[in-house]
Amino acid sequence: MRRLAITVRGIVQGVGFRPFVYQAARRGQLGGWVRNDAGTVRIEVQGERAALDAFLDALRHAPPPQARIDAVEVQEQTPELIAGQPNGAAFRICGSGEASAPRPTIPADLATCRECLAEIQDPSQRRYRYPFTNCTNCGPRWSIIERLPYDRSRTSMAGFAMCAECQAEYDNPADRRFHAQPIACPRCGPMLQVLDPQGHEMAAGQAALTATVEALLAGRIVAIKGLGGFQLLVDATNAAAVARLRQRKQRADRPFAVMLPSLDDVRQYGQLAEDESAVLCSHQAPIVLLRRLRRELGTPSPPAIVDGVAPGNPYLGLMLPYTPLHHLLMAAVARPIVCTSGNHSEEPMATTTEDAIARLGTIADVLLTHNRPIVRPVDDSIVRLGRDGVQVLRRARGFAPLPIELNVESQDAPTILALGGHLKNTVALLLGGVAEEGATHATQVVMSAHVGDLDSRPSVDVFQRAADDLVEFFRVAPGAVVCDLHPDYASTRYAEQLSARWDAPLVQVQHHHAHVAACAAEHGLQGPVLGFSWDGTGYGPDGTIWGGEVLLCDGAMFHRAAHLRTFALPGGDRAAREPRRSALGLLFEILGARAAEHAAAWFRPAETDALLSMLARRVNTPRTSSMGRLFDAVAAICGLPPVISFEGQAAMALEFAADENESEAYPLLLSTGSADDKPASPMQSGKPQHDLVIDWEPLVRALSADRAADVSVGRLSARFHNALAEMAVAVTRAVAPTEVPIVLTGGCFQNAVLTSRTRSRLAAAGFQVYTHHQVPPGDGGLALGQVFLAQRQLQGLFDVSRNSR
Ligand SMILES: [Zn+2]
Ligand SMILES: [Zn+2]
Repeated sequence: MRRLAITVRGIVQGVGFRPFVYQAARRGQLGGWVRNDAGTVRIEVQGERAALDAFLDALRHAPPPQARIDAVEVQEQTPELIAGQPNGAAFRICGSGEASAPRPTIPADLATCRECLAEIQDPSQRRYRYPFTNCTNCGPRWSIIERLPYDRSRTSMAGFAMCAECQAEYDNPADRRFHAQPIACPRCGPMLQVLDPQGHEMAAGQAALTATVEALLAGRIVAIKGLGGFQLLVDATNAAAVARLRQRKQRADRPFAVMLPSLDDVRQYGQLAEDESAVLCSHQAPIVLLRRLRRELGTPSPPAIVDGVAPGNPYLGLMLPYTPLHHLLMAAVARPIVCTSGNHSEEPMATTTEDAIARLGTIADVLLTHNRPIVRPVDDSIVRLGRDGVQVLRRARGFAPLPIELNVESQDAPTILALGGHLKNTVALLLGGVAEEGATHATQVVMSAHVGDLDSRPSVDVFQRAADDLVEFFRVAPGAVVCDLHPDYASTRYAEQLSARWDAPLVQVQHHHAHVAACAAEHGLQGPVLGFSWDGTGYGPDGTIWGGEVLLCDGAMFHRAAHLRTFALPGGDRAAREPRRSALGLLFEILGARAAEHAAAWFRPAETDALLSMLARRVNTPRTSSMGRLFDAVAAICGLPPVISFEGQAAMALEFAADENESEAYPLLLSTGSADDKPASPMQSGKPQHDLVIDWEPLVRALSADRAADVSVGRLSARFHNALAEMAVAVTRAVAPTEVPIVLTGGCFQNAVLTSRTRSRLAAAGFQVYTHHQVPPGDGGLALGQVFLAQRQLQGLFDVSRNSR
């Protein structure tokens, strides 16, 4: 007879873990109890040796499908002696305790499981057509949890009293809903309601579903309260309806995602590989970018997804229904439906009905809402599958708050809050070492769901709440705050405030350095790495705008090993929406006033004169080494649209144009720095040697000549991409000590052509290449790099007893 005290760490709450423990204990006729704590699950079991061994084996090797076991710690206890009960008191599930500090023990929101889907489709079930059906294997989690430990009373389901039937399921160890916290049914759970844009009720319950379906089929725009926020839905096969949504949402070209009823429907519209269908059908159920299917003429085909959904884009962002509400709607409309975040461009997603009426009332014809509150906004995630696996382009639903483990001694790590950048913002919390009863957790980073661009006051408010939320949820007092080096970012300013509020040091990290660190952190790379950090813009320590950087990074330091030759951007920030400005700035460097000869397709003569005069006088023409702006310039020179509606649009057009079979590359020159290219400040760059400059002049000359000779855009684009890939090899050979791992990071590496060509050239040259899998290569991944670097900078300086509060 033995008694064991067991502590389990990992994703062990909100996944049916206690019911699983209960059943395993009952199988072995063990006595004892199981209890959720804020950061762990605690178990005591008493019984015979063989039964205890079988119990431990089940814990370690056969947990519930959504659980992730990080550690099982076992201590011997004195057996409980109760007359007539050799195994002590019968096994039971105890109320939650708060003994340990909160850790990321809960899963992300989980897409509807097969069993629940079957139930809502079965007229004999009491949850037939009930849009809030869920169980221990599926349903809302991160979007409804207020705090840990995970119990109904600490979720937004707290206000719904269970009916007798739900209570019976909740209490029955044999039921799939045994201790399922968000359990609900038509009698006791949340209900639907349809409102007109002014907020007047038009229908409720099942009639609300019917009204919504009718509105969608009639081409109307519907705002629905989804899992983690409002979404805007419209018939994707109705060109006029899609155009109306674009016009009302003020979104000119950026692609919309489309939801399809089933995987069979996905096959009608996108080229689907096996790994892609697995991701679509996973419990994360993200938007997956798939190549549009080219249809043979004359074959019978379903109604087309109209071009306005993703203008000029060979990819479609497709997803499957992931809540019962989406399943019911999609089954009824039986066609592709645009499903995009419920917001105006540059504003955050609405999460409350009041907010939706106020902000979406001018976009939507109808609002479908319900009375289950959303605790925090969680947008849809976006992924793409490449040759080297999953690339997350937007990390939100299905991912947050799953922790990313850092290959760092947790005893050395203070708790650190990172506030990210300015665009595609996310925030991150590094949870350092908390020593409890002799055991320590691994160092983990929890990233918020995608927040978005911080261009408007409402967006900044959402960002600040996301930062506050992480700190409050995990009940920590950060020992340091980290942000970008840019003095004017809203994220930098909030970091300064928090640093003062907590009396915690502020660490500022250079943008491109953070990108490299994010990729290194993902892969647990401890030693030096060479990072190709290519993106739109980031603040350089020399006051110029960086963006085409090759950084040799070691520990908390970096050396700017190489960068793109700089050029002037006439009008500064306006260049991000006007590739023609980048093109003119680039040509001015080579041709001076003669650049005017190339500008006729882009500007009226008076505009050209004004811009050239600005360039000559160096007025409002900041210099940049931005790779993103080089892509823009090349796109404009290739004859692609000179003005765009979102940053990155020109680079995407260039990527999509690239001819797969073209192997030639334009020449690029690697030279030592010129007068215009001063080295980084000595404080940031560890080594005094001169950095190398990647000179695009020969490329631009060859490109212009090809263009004049009417070479196809496909070949121009491919030769440009190939040139960058070749240059990556040349730079690596010139600057990298042998055996240094190579990291490809920054928004430019969302470009699949650039990534695959650069990776394969480097790999062929014998280098080890790493790309992003867990966080986006763009600014959505910055916060991870920021915490990683701050941790390294602060290593050993902190007393980790400050970590818990
Ligand atoms: Zn389920
Ligand atoms: Zn009920």
